[in-house]
Amino acid sequence: MKIAVIGGGPTGMAEAIYLAQKGCQVTLYEKSGELGGLAGWFNIGGSDVERYYHFIMTCDKHYLDLLELVGVKEQINWVETKTSFFYENELHPFSEPIDILKFKPLNLYQRLRLAWTLGYMTKLAKNWKPFEDRMACEWLPKVSTQRAWDVIWKPMLDMKFGEHASEMSMAWLWARCNMVGQYRPEGKSAECRGWLKGSTRTFIEAAERVMAELGVTVRKGVSIERISVKDGRAEGVVIDNKLAPFDHIVYSAPSPFLKGMMPEETQQMPYFQQIYSQKCYGATCMVLALKKPFNPYFWTYVNDPRVPFVGVINYSDFTAWEGQEGRHVIYVPWYSETNVDPYTRDSDALIKDWAQGLKIVQPDFDESWIIEGVVGRAPYASMICSGRYSERLVPLRGPIKDFTFANLSQIYPQDRGISIGIKLSRYAVKSVLEDREVEMDFSPKVSAEPVDF
Ligand SMILES: Cc1cc2nc3c(=O)[nH]c(=O)nc-3n(C[C@H](O)[C@H](O)[C@H](O)COP(=O)(O)OP(=O)(O)OC[C@H]3O[C@@H](n4cnc5c(N)ncnc54)[C@H](O)[C@@H]3O)c2cc1C
Repeated sequence: MKIAVIGGGPTGMAEAIYLAQKGCQVTLYEKSGELGGLAGWFNIGGSDVERYYHFIMTCDKHYLDLLELVGVKEQINWVETKTSFFYENELHPFSEPIDILKFKPLNLYQRLRLAWTLGYMTKLAKNWKPFEDRMACEWLPKVSTQRAWDVIWKPMLDMKFGEHASEMSMAWLWARCNMVGQYRPEGKSAECRGWLKGSTRTFIEAAERVMAELGVTVRKGVSIERISVKDGRAEGVVIDNKLAPFDHIVYSAPSPFLKGMMPEETQQMPYFQQIYSQKCYGATCMVLALKKPFNPYFWTYVNDPRVPFVGVINYSDFTAWEGQEGRHVIYVPWYSETNVDPYTRDSDALIKDWAQGLKIVQPDFDESWIIEGVVGRAPYASMICSGRYSERLVPLRGPIKDFTFANLSQIYPQDRGISIGIKLSRYAVKSVLEDREVEMDFSPKVSAEPVDF
């Protein structure tokens, strides 16, 4: 079977590998000059790191399996990571359950209510579905106190969803809280995260080698102009006005590109209308290579009206291991629409402004620490899965025969991620090989379960 996979991010790469393993003749098309998509890498201050911070969890089973398959699983640097919370000029530890009980910005009653809320969401409530009917901005102040909402929850939701934060149901937060629990390997109380030595570059280059061995044709720097549909089936892709025929097409690029690729006759089909109505969010991410560690924490949440961001991610522990002196790279992310500040702001101005914020969070910090600064911007970084999103989920197969749609818009209630994208790729491969719809489940509790084909 001759298959075109559109999109060379982790999901498309995984599809290409698994389909080729099953004997399919695969061509992988990637619009940009490099594979990796949102998980791509670059060099800053002499270090190869991800364009956007990326870490691995022990429960990222599908990613770990793929890393093993391409021969680089042993290159993960697993480290105990620590989280902190900056509030009213103080950095509070925020990694362990005991840290919540000691969290000074809340009084004892508020801490207990917050701990109860977290315990309820992660231990008692097994199912995310009832949470879809509860809006986070209404349910959380009621259940975990208004103060916990103002200090902790609101800034977290604002960072991730900005002006759409008030539309978010509790289902997404339920999944998020359950995922945070999975930063702890089974039986361990300490947070633990992994980073591939050499960044995702190590994974991407190993995957490219394996694809070459399996006979996958990788076409980088090639943007698919159109998907040709004839008599109700996808017959091929159009590049430079020429048709390249295929038996099946798998689409794993962001949803907004699909509309321009599909023929007019599909525009009125409810399946495609659903896809075209999906809303994506952009990410602005400042990356700084520093001369020294920013602070001792991997993740610092920030809630301070003077600081224009709500989080700092610090790679210093990731990049240090025996025989290797660590490099100090930090990420400061912000999610928003792509027509508003800070997405639209000039990079130098943004670095200057956010460096002032860094100084508030870490008073020792000085601009002379910066070796190099870059601002990354991803227009389709995540989905706005607001309200009852489960009712708007699109299946893998629609009305067009021999066409499979598999991208991060289908991942819900869990947040997008490489491992869950690879799980999606396995559902897509199963669907292609068996030529049928496949039921998908991306609940955090089952996210590591295998998908066999
Ligand atoms: C700030 C940030 C932090 C993140 N942190 C983590 C983390 O810590 N851990 C984790 O697991 N995940 C993380 N992620 C998520 C992870 O990067 C994504 O889940 C993953 O990259 C999605 O892979 P994908 O292949 O589905 O999509 P993408 O990575 O979006 O890839 C889609 C590809 O399609 C290509 N494309 C678009 N149009 C065309 C066309 N016409 N023809 C051909 N190709 C096309 C694009 O160029 C792109 O390469 C993070 C993402 C962001 C933005």
